[in-house]
Amino acid sequence: MAVLTDQRSAELFEEARRLIPGGVSSPVRAMRSVGRDHPLFLARGEGGWVWDADGNRYVDWVLSWGPLIAGHAHPAVVEAVRDAAGRGTTFGAPTEIELELARAVVEAVPSVEQVRFVSSGTEAAMSAIRLARAFTGRDRIIKFAGGYHGHADALLARAGSGLATLGIPSSPGVPDAVVADTLVAEYNDLEAVRALAEHHDDELAAIIVEPVAGNMGVVAPAPGFLEGLRTVCNGTGAVLIADEVITGFRIAYGGGQERFAFRPDLTCLGKIVGGGLPAAAFGGRSDIMGLLAPDGDVYQAGTLSGNPLAMAAGLATLRLLREPGAYERLERTSAALEAALAGPGVTVNRVGAMLTAFHHPGPVRSYADASGADTARFAAFHAHMLARGISLAPSQFEAAMPSLAHTDEQLELTAAAAAEFAA
Ligand SMILES: *Cc1c(COP(=O)(O)O)cnc(C)c1O
Repeated sequence: MAVLTDQRSAELFEEARRLIPGGVSSPVRAMRSVGRDHPLFLARGEGGWVWDADGNRYVDWVLSWGPLIAGHAHPAVVEAVRDAAGRGTTFGAPTEIELELARAVVEAVPSVEQVRFVSSGTEAAMSAIRLARAFTGRDRIIKFAGGYHGHADALLARAGSGLATLGIPSSPGVPDAVVADTLVAEYNDLEAVRALAEHHDDELAAIIVEPVAGNMGVVAPAPGFLEGLRTVCNGTGAVLIADEVITGFRIAYGGGQERFAFRPDLTCLGKIVGGGLPAAAFGGRSDIMGLLAPDGDVYQAGTLSGNPLAMAAGLATLRLLREPGAYERLERTSAALEAALAGPGVTVNRVGAMLTAFHHPGPVRSYADASGADTARFAAFHAHMLARGISLAPSQFEAAMPSLAHTDEQLELTAAAAAEFAA
């Protein structure tokens, strides 16, 4: 379906730019890196479809960047949220539904013995780092180039996601002292991690890693990489933090740690765990989690943490993922999308229901590789697809998000549009 006009989006953006910096609440949404002068304002979603403010319909492979593994406005999720809202939207007190979701998370994620809910992945990662530092009594952390763990100060060193998209190496406003303890290694380079660990041996508090990198575009862990990080942590006493904000419940019900059979000490969850509402979580070994206030002294809190609407949406989404055949369906849809996006000069990296079609001859195994992608060609591809009613993430360094809701028709439309570009 051809897009007729996006006049309304253009008008709305003009006013938005006056009222909101850059006109957006999160930078990549502005769609600048794919050469647009304004983003599309979205008005409605249903399953794998989304409609913009001008009434154009798109096949949506962005799905709010990952939370909507059940698709937009899934009836079971909507009903759960409506139900919860009718009983009160927030209490600032423990609730039964929070306990239910905690039980589901502990049952799902192999290494998680205790879990605490927060409102964003940023908070989850920031809190996990604080906890690891308190547990070890050390300050230094290792993260990976192109890894993104939200926008907490200490984690904005050579970060992926919007920083990769906009070419920002770190951020003004972050004091040097705050990132002085952040060491950066290349993803999949175990030797580099070993060298850093050797050099900083008894200063190392944590290694934080996305089990499958998702914010430099999708990059799978090399065989032995995640196990190798475990070994380094065992050797130094550092805490291994798996940031499963994207991978959790997506590449397996138990996330990357189930799929790749490695055991982190702490895990960050987000996106799917909130089912499309603002919830995230961090959890892990109870001897570490036990340091959190009020049992311990490590402070962490939130007015809306464990919000009952978000807990209801998360729980309803996890139930849909527990239905027989859910992951087989995700695998089929994702493999079909992979085939649709593949073409000459394109390398598709896919792990389960997360994938990126790099406009790069390949292989893409690190941030250095990903950075070599032809972003101008990607921008042309993105525009081509959007004009044909296919919405892809407006950055070469993000993942497509197949869902339970996408249909064969939507896959066929995507494949037809992509084939036209290749031709
Ligand atoms: C999205 C994301 C975050 C940040 O989550 P927010 O809810 O946007 O703060 C952290 N880590 C990873 C791996 C993510 O993909």
